[in-house]
Amino acid sequence: SQRRNGNDSISAGQLSPGILDLHSFDTELLPELPTPGLYDGVQLFGCAQGRGFDDSDPSFSTGKQMSMAQFVAESNPLRSFSADKEKLASVAKIKVVVRKRPLNKKEIAKKEEDIITIEPNSNSVTVHETKLKVDLTEYVEKHEFVFDSVLNEDVSNDEVYRETVQPIVPAIFQRTKATCFAYGQTGSGKTYTMQPLPLEASQDILRLMNHTYCNQGFQLFVSFFEIYGGKLFDLLNDRRKLFMREDGKQKVCIVGLQEYRVSSVDAIQELIEKGNATRSTGTTGANEESSRSHAILQLAIKKSVDGTESKPPRIVGKLSFIDLAGSERGADTTDNDKQTRIEGAEINKSLLALKECIRALDNDQVHIPFRGSKLTEVLRDSFIGDSRTVMISCISPSSGSCEHTLNTLRYADRVKSLSKGGNPRK
Ligand code: ADP
Ligand code: MG
Repeated sequence: SQRRNGNDSISAGQLSPGILDLHSFDTELLPELPTPGLYDGVQLFGCAQGRGFDDSDPSFSTGKQMSMAQFVAESNPLRSFSADKEKLASVAKIKVVVRKRPLNKKEIAKKEEDIITIEPNSNSVTVHETKLKVDLTEYVEKHEFVFDSVLNEDVSNDEVYRETVQPIVPAIFQRTKATCFAYGQTGSGKTYTMQPLPLEASQDILRLMNHTYCNQGFQLFVSFFEIYGGKLFDLLNDRRKLFMREDGKQKVCIVGLQEYRVSSVDAIQELIEKGNATRSTGTTGANEESSRSHAILQLAIKKSVDGTESKPPRIVGKLSFIDLAGSERGADTTDNDKQTRIEGAEINKSLLALKECIRALDNDQVHIPFRGSKLTEVLRDSFIGDSRTVMISCISPSSGSCEHTLNTLRYADRVKSLSKGGNPRK
């Protein structure tokens, strides 16, 4: 069957009928799922033996002999976070992470300085802002912020994944919706940070599907679209324009969005590359265009209803990756060009609405103000029920970006200020 084949790529037959139901979490048909526990490795071994190893995983394709302990250690990084309910509950509902990128060649050539210090032990970021006194002598004002996690310029993308998304992955098999945002000014490293995350996540998802949850009828689907000027475009279907529709029960559907069923990391990589290429081929320069759009990549876990392929599978959980528009674009509201002003206003609105939604979530508010913008409307189902949110705030280290960096850190701080009582020092 399709499900067992660990290595098939996308084929035409795997395209969905065209409507992605973003909202239907029909739980009554889903039995309680077994939770992987202490004996993961053994269970995993048994399953893996039966079906043949997944080629996409280097640890499975070497064919070398290894002990059980070695096998478990090498082949199952998910072992470190068991999906039992207690552990899931301990994964914070909202996590705010800051990532600083290194100074680039251009900044070094312009003799810009690194004004950001990060202290991982205290999870703090300090911005050293140079200011002028009235008599024009310089002084440095320090702004310190504390977050859930702070990542220095030497932290790799792998470590970013382990720190942000990986702990949530098992939860999406337990009907959780998880969302990971990258926020920051253009050039701060949002796309650099976000691009590898869905790939790493799908590797772990496929591993769970093929081992811990093998033969349980789970399927993985990918969709990728962008919101530009308040309109939706399918990045996996030549930027076809899409429409959002709400049914009587306030379920949100994106009409026409293509979803691909995938069962190998290679197939997902191909789709991500295709989507990114589509995103950047706007009329003007690539970064110029993409910095004004929110790119949304969704991995959906579905489960067949009766173990066959005769009925459409039901959605179990979802993991969304959102590469937000450049935060400075929200200020384009005074630009000479009318179109730019309209787009700027939409970006501003969506980033404000997003912040309010996350704050409402953090506050366990019953009313989530998702109607504030297209972005939050589309993400509506990710804000209700059992959800997890990770906000990665990307910052540039350079003195030339000081103001934008402070804005980004203040935004990130506001996102979490309710549960933490805010940062005392700014
Ligand atoms: P954004 O998407 O926020 O506009 P990008 O992700 O395109 O920014 O990053 C801008 C440039 O900086 C790119 O050339 C990217 O490769 C580089 N860059 C960003 N973050 C890092 C990092 N952590 N380490 C090395 N290079 C980085
Ligand atoms: Mg980008």
